This record gives sequence, C-alpha cells and structure tokens, in this order.
Amino acid sequence: MRWRERAACRGADPDLFFPIGNSGPTLGQIDEAKGVCDQCPVVEQCLNWAIRMGWVEGIWGGTTEGERRAMRRCEARQSKDAVTVVA
Ligand code: SF4
Repeated sequence: MRWRERAACRGADPDLFFPIGNSGPTLGQIDEAKGVCDQCPVVEQCLNWAIRMGWVEGIWGGTTEGERRAMRRCEARQSKDAVTVVA
C-alpha cells in the first residue's frame, strides 16, 4: 500500500471521493473526483487494488463502484469463455 503515499488525493477532502448516489448534482462531484484521479501517478495501482478488494465504495482509480462492478463482471465473463474454449 506504499503507492498511497504518492496519491494525488492526499490532502483532498475525502468526502469528494465518496459521493452519495450517482445522479443529479452528484455527477459534478464524481467528475471532480475523477479529475483528481486523472492527475494521479498511481491510478493503476489504485484501480487494481479496488478491483481486488471488490467491496470498496467510492471513487478509486478514476472509477465509480458501479464501473468497477461492470469491469469485474466483464473479467468473469472473459474467464468463463476462456475455460469454455479450453474444455
Ligand atoms: S487514483 Fe484517485 S482515488 Fe486513487 S490514489 Fe489516485 S487520486 Fe486517489
């Protein structure tokens, strides 16, 4: 977790990265948080960690919880297809 020492969000308001909901005015907050992630030198490490942890809420690695859930589903589908081809 040493990558966190280089995080662009260090010192930022943590509430920015934990929007409540995903519509209306919250979309502006999500965009703002993602804007910080866009400048972050450890965005890949952060995203990988959040995907591995699975249950993590909020904006991590420039993604929302829902976006990461979709990524995990896609990965699971691809793994299943690979197993099917091999079998
Ligand atoms: S990618 Fe975003 S949430 Fe992750 S460490 Fe960087 S700024 Fe923070």
